[in-house]
Amino acid sequence: MAGTATHPRETTMDERQHTTDAGTGGGTGGGTGEGTRAVHAGRPGHEPYTPSLPGPVFAAHYHLPGEPTGPYTYGRDENPTWTLLERAIGELESPDEPAETVVFSSGMAAISSVLLGQVRTGDVVVLPTDCYQATRSLRERLESYGAEVRMAPTAGDAQERLLDGARLLWIESPSNPGLDVCDIRRLADAAHAAGALVAVDNTLATPLGQRPLDLGADFSVASGTKALTGHGDVLLGYVACRDERLAASVRYWRKTVGAIPGPMESWLAHRSLATLQLRVDRQASNAVALARALRGHPEVTDVRHPGLAEDPSHEQAARQMRRYGSVVSFTLPDQRFAERFLAALRLTSEATSFGSVQCTAERRGRWGGDAVAPGFVRFSVGVEDPEDILRDVLGALEAAAGA
Ligand SMILES: *Cc1c(COP(=O)(O)O)cnc(C)c1O
Repeated sequence: MAGTATHPRETTMDERQHTTDAGTGGGTGGGTGEGTRAVHAGRPGHEPYTPSLPGPVFAAHYHLPGEPTGPYTYGRDENPTWTLLERAIGELESPDEPAETVVFSSGMAAISSVLLGQVRTGDVVVLPTDCYQATRSLRERLESYGAEVRMAPTAGDAQERLLDGARLLWIESPSNPGLDVCDIRRLADAAHAAGALVAVDNTLATPLGQRPLDLGADFSVASGTKALTGHGDVLLGYVACRDERLAASVRYWRKTVGAIPGPMESWLAHRSLATLQLRVDRQASNAVALARALRGHPEVTDVRHPGLAEDPSHEQAARQMRRYGSVVSFTLPDQRFAERFLAALRLTSEATSFGSVQCTAERRGRWGGDAVAPGFVRFSVGVEDPEDILRDVLGALEAAAGA
């Protein structure tokens, strides 16, 4: 118990030591602390009389005399605002080794670029049974193109048994919304031995919570709509990878499919990265506080959060994650109880998505498609004061029980 509660604080102290040797300006290197890196990532050097982060470049086309050589030719191919954001995310996902990042208009655009873009007729794809619903729904599309899709749960590394002859292993850890965790390193090694590529959906963890490329993945893929940008006002996605050829093929997919982010969204995302560490640290400690409070409550069962020492995911999560995310899930007695609870929340808004600075919660079963109980609630903890969050949640539980 004590170990979990202190984890975020330990991380912060550790980072403070690193921060002392941090460089400034013009991107960050591997020796820099994570908080410093988040603030400076992808920003150009300290050129006099220029802004710290240049504003969004709105361009459908660029002045392009003569032979069309790069870097900026046409607005669907490249944009300087994307370039800075891509550098920033690359530094966070892979601080110690060069990586390329390709940003997309949404998480699903990024996911499709790998799941549809890297797979051909006859290929075998291994998906988790419990991953993000829209990712799973690409199964039908893959099969219609003549690929074989095999599925197994995230928990217990069950996907490992399906790797024979596979082309692509898709991992989501922690899984959304069930918060199960698998051993990414072990699965990646097994997949590579079987000749498969490995992609990890890193949405829930963010690059400050987990670095899939360091754990052996070929692709770290994520929705930037959630905690990465963190304000509930931007849709974005990205693919990060170290192999230049894979990166080029993802980039080519974006160009031909046209799933490009707007310059304004890209700039907002980059601006939001500066506070990433502050937000995810606060969310992580708030999430543990909420999970602890819920565990003692008579109406609440199956409280899940990977940062909780008692959680079935915790041991593996602690080995590969540095922060455990903003999501706490739990089950209330039935659908009616859960609906009364959500309606009684004052601070927390009933909304889908997660990772925002504000608390949000929803009864996941209202969408159908996830294997969850009718009273299952996915709660995303914001950066509000912990005592206000606890008061809101415990008060709503009392109201729901008394009604
Ligand atoms: C939200 C989410 C996505 C999809 O991202 P969008 O930005 O909504 O397209 C993919 N994976 C996970 C785990 C998510 O939570």
